[in-house]
Amino acid sequence: MKAISIDHFTKEQKIAYFSMEIGIKSEIPTYSGGLGVLAGDTIKSAADLRLPLVAVTLLTKKGYFKQDIDIFGRQIELHDEWDPEKWMFPIRERVSVAIEGREVMVGCWVYIVESATGGKIPIFFLDTDQAENTPEDREITHYLYGGDTSYRLKQEIVLGIGGTRMLDELGFDIRKYHMNEGHSSFLTLELLKRHKKDIESVWDERLVWDVEKVRSLCVFTTHTPVAAGHDRFPYSLVEKTLPEIVPLNVIKEFAGRENLNMTILGINLSNYINGVAKKHGEVSKTMFPGYEIHAITNGVHSFTWTCDSFKKLYDKYLPGWANEPEIFVRVGRIPPEELWESHMEAKRQLIDYVNRETQVGMNYDTLTIGFARRATAYKRADLLFANPDRLVQIGEGRIQIIYAGKAHPKDDSGKQLIKNIFEIKERLKNKIKIAYLKNYNMNLALKLISGVDLWLNTPMRPLEASGTSGMKATHNGVPNFSILDGWWIEGHIEGYTGWSIGPSADIIADPKRDADDLYSKLEKVIIPTFYNDKYIWIKIMDNAIGKNAYYFNTHRMMRLYVTEAYIR
Ligand SMILES: *Cc1c(COP(=O)(O)O)cnc(C)c1O
Repeated sequence: MKAISIDHFTKEQKIAYFSMEIGIKSEIPTYSGGLGVLAGDTIKSAADLRLPLVAVTLLTKKGYFKQDIDIFGRQIELHDEWDPEKWMFPIRERVSVAIEGREVMVGCWVYIVESATGGKIPIFFLDTDQAENTPEDREITHYLYGGDTSYRLKQEIVLGIGGTRMLDELGFDIRKYHMNEGHSSFLTLELLKRHKKDIESVWDERLVWDVEKVRSLCVFTTHTPVAAGHDRFPYSLVEKTLPEIVPLNVIKEFAGRENLNMTILGINLSNYINGVAKKHGEVSKTMFPGYEIHAITNGVHSFTWTCDSFKKLYDKYLPGWANEPEIFVRVGRIPPEELWESHMEAKRQLIDYVNRETQVGMNYDTLTIGFARRATAYKRADLLFANPDRLVQIGEGRIQIIYAGKAHPKDDSGKQLIKNIFEIKERLKNKIKIAYLKNYNMNLALKLISGVDLWLNTPMRPLEASGTSGMKATHNGVPNFSILDGWWIEGHIEGYTGWSIGPSADIIADPKRDADDLYSKLEKVIIPTFYNDKYIWIKIMDNAIGKNAYYFNTHRMMRLYVTEAYIR
């Protein structure tokens, strides 16, 4: 395949957006979940808005994994290999990074995100599968979140250091480096090396590094309060693996004394740091005391996350919505019957899909609740089943429930959650119809968030940094029913944009109360409104669009990144 030139992209200064995973579409499975999909949505909005941005990630051509589930609810992980040649072009430039003392060659592919506005953003996918590398090194960029600590460290060296060198080699002039989570923080070391002062300091070697210059170039976004989401590497491993770019004592100065903490490294060398929702900004300040941490609440790419029937509806009543989601403020122009009919079109498609996939026999008119996200303990996918008898009492014949979500291959308690739901599904099958759909990906996500009547989220507070699937639901007029955490603290107006579960965000979490609250609100408010007060229900759908989709989109988010973080 012919290599292409990307010269026309290098003419103006760019912002470089680094992310371990980027989710553009299901067919390019280089993402595992929310972080990657957010990165893809970020890039798509940047293209629509014609922002001067380029993105860097790993090729991960064996993907994350394809999920199968057996009849007992046991997750089976299958390879998800895909063919880069089908979607992107190889680039002839190559760079090298030293890993364990070997020179590892890094090549790269480019995928160009093109917007209807004419905006174009290149995404560079780094690839160590080069003929001169050892078989082991050729696999460094194969598996997303696969392998052990040493494998992860090598991937992050390729992403941060290899990525920065690649942009240089391609001729880019970069004005800001945006680290989307700590996986790419090694780029700060490469920048330190480049910005050494022209002095010799006899008493303090640290003074020769132009730290302020590096900080002025870097933006860091943290994405989770969960400890496992922050990579740490023992220095014994770092010494063996990482090339000597800057001396180890300098790294320790910025990345922590005991082990190398990628988040600490990133935030120490950035002059703009942010969390991904207002509450998450606050929580991050308590995790990292002494740092100024801002908040820019996440969004979703409106055009990507609106289903066909709603696209048609918006084109008719709210022209221009896709590149200016603020137009959703005029949602009142859509006649309620047409809003409902567009919803029913999406719902029928989803129910048909569920019945084809699972033979569970769902119907079009029952209140349908959706829950899909990574199966991991704190997300509490089974909170709805805390008291199955009570759920049957409330919901028999009145609700049906659709689940989806992968557990990380090493997350045993996440896998157990899937099994629990399978067990309950069998137990309740003559009373409440429940389906668990396999292989949650972006295509399935769009079907689900647009086709259900109500989107449920039940995380353990305050561990949901933002959450984005609920924002996708609102783009299709689907209201949220969620714990007051992450974005929902900002988007929730009780009984108006949707409903809360459990206590308000400013009082201490009480997980024991959550299930109780969930049941009573379902019984006394949500089910009666859905069946007996369609007018009010449609009004709430309307508000989900006009108050939530209006704000929780990546166009608004990117405008904030530009004014708050990039232009500084
Ligand atoms: C949007 C999305 C997510 C993230 O959803 P959350 O609500 O943040 O958990 C995960 N996986 C896929 C496939 C998605 O489309």
